[in-house]
Amino acid sequence: MASDQHADATAIASQIIQMFRQKGDAAYVGEEVTQTEHALQAATAAERDGADCELIAAALLHDVGHLLHNFPEDCAESGIDDQHQVLGEAFLKKHFSSRVTEPVRLHVAAKRYLCSSNPAYWDRLSAASKTSLELQGGVMTDEEIVQYEAGQFAREATQLRGWDDEAKVVGFETKNWEHFRQPLIAALELAGDQASDIRHPSDK
Ligand code: FE
Repeated sequence: MASDQHADATAIASQIIQMFRQKGDAAYVGEEVTQTEHALQAATAAERDGADCELIAAALLHDVGHLLHNFPEDCAESGIDDQHQVLGEAFLKKHFSSRVTEPVRLHVAAKRYLCSSNPAYWDRLSAASKTSLELQGGVMTDEEIVQYEAGQFAREATQLRGWDDEAKVVGFETKNWEHFRQPLIAALELAGDQASDIRHPSDK
């Protein structure tokens, strides 16, 4: 029932927000902002650019994988790739559509793609992002570029990457969790609608 779906979406949104409230004050690997500040800045940028609820959710949660592992903050400097995009996708997949989870999974690939196609982009990356780039595979080969561009969510992932990169500004004023609770719930409900369409195709 739709009201059950709304209750489920509301509960999941609360759990996710709670997780950021508990763990999101940790520093963001090598950056000057916390995970929570980074998430809220990325979502604020997405909303400013007219993104819909799913892409706002993707921006908000693109680094949730950093909250799900126990590697030290500076693990990239010790040569460890935390694979946070894979952890994040696996976590989000339980609740969100692929329009949310695929850009999240691809936001590291998007960095590699943008470095390959635009040398000025590499120059603008933060020092921490340049360090992790090497662990993540470095710039893309021509073959990888073709494969990335052919992906269904390449455009969204590239857009998400832009919001990610600009979301590292100390003291930047953003909307808060309460503001983003609504698009988060809307994105969760859309995923619920899609799941029920698959389960009950004849109802439509
Ligand atoms: Fe990020």
